[in-house]
Amino acid sequence: MKIAILSHDSNIYSTRRLREAGEQRGHEMYVIDYLRCYMNITSHKPMVIYGGKPLEGFDAVIPRIGASQTFYGTAVVRQFEMMDVFTANESQAISRSRDKLRCLQLLAREGIGLPVSGFAHSTKDIDGLINTVGGAPLVIKLLEGTQGIGVVLTETYQAAKSVIEAFRGLNANILVQEFIQEAKGADLRCFVINERVVASMKRQALEGEFRSNLHRGGTAEKVKLTPEERSTAVRAAKAMGLKVAGVDLLRSNHGPVVMEVNSSPGLEGIEKATGTDVPGKIIEFLEKIATKGNSRDRIQ
Ligand code: ADP
Ligand code: GLU
Repeated sequence: MKIAILSHDSNIYSTRRLREAGEQRGHEMYVIDYLRCYMNITSHKPMVIYGGKPLEGFDAVIPRIGASQTFYGTAVVRQFEMMDVFTANESQAISRSRDKLRCLQLLAREGIGLPVSGFAHSTKDIDGLINTVGGAPLVIKLLEGTQGIGVVLTETYQAAKSVIEAFRGLNANILVQEFIQEAKGADLRCFVINERVVASMKRQALEGEFRSNLHRGGTAEKVKLTPEERSTAVRAAKAMGLKVAGVDLLRSNHGPVVMEVNSSPGLEGIEKATGTDVPGKIIEFLEKIATKGNSRDRIQ
């Protein structure tokens, strides 16, 4: 197969490993910087141009779109969809997953376990908002944050109120969430490919920290999921329409709750913690279903 990895950086671990995994399995692998792709969107025959030449003959693309490049990145993926090239994740599912609020709304509709969460626009509604989610302690999240930056734990009602006022005063959109204390600073990253969990790890926050992000100094180890956790991860990926997803769960008193569904989950942490060849499994999935004409549910 001829496969393009859509990545802005050919040197990062995830991109390198995907390329290696594809080559090992005998495929022609290309790393394409989607920020250097351009297109004539009015052309009757949709195409993507790269380095002055049209990209042709691809069987599949693997989007690895950076969180800050969602707008342009998904436009490039959409163009490949219009060329009937199979994509590991569809453009619309990627956009959907990048909006935390939309993500939670869709998961809630499917009856998937979530931390009790609330959202409001006006600072006049802060008291109502805090009461809606059950009062302090609360976790307050910037909707645009990643890697744990912009996630704050407020222990008291007054602290929660001040933080919400401060963020809203800066016009930031925030999510207010029940604090899952019983998770004890740990979360579960479940790597889902085509409705199966292929690898899972438990990330543990540093002593005195509640955020378990590896970027915040957390550590990771392989973990065995319960059947309920497994099915929650699979249902969450499915609700988002993602074939390849990193689903983050917390172990709460009311069962597994989903925190986030990531459409470009990192490969380094999960491979190192579990020893599973996750990139190989992504390529295997493409081999199984990326036949021409099997590209997606048509244009959205
Ligand atoms: P980001 O997208 O920036 O990583 P997350 O929503 O995943 O933000 O939160 C970062 C970390 O904070 C999580 O990995 C988890 O360990 C912790 N955390 C987030 N929300 C909660 C919560 N409601 N209760 C307890 N811990 C939480
Ligand atoms: N998207 C990030 C990466 O590719 C990782 C984010 C995550 O897995 O939480 O490195």
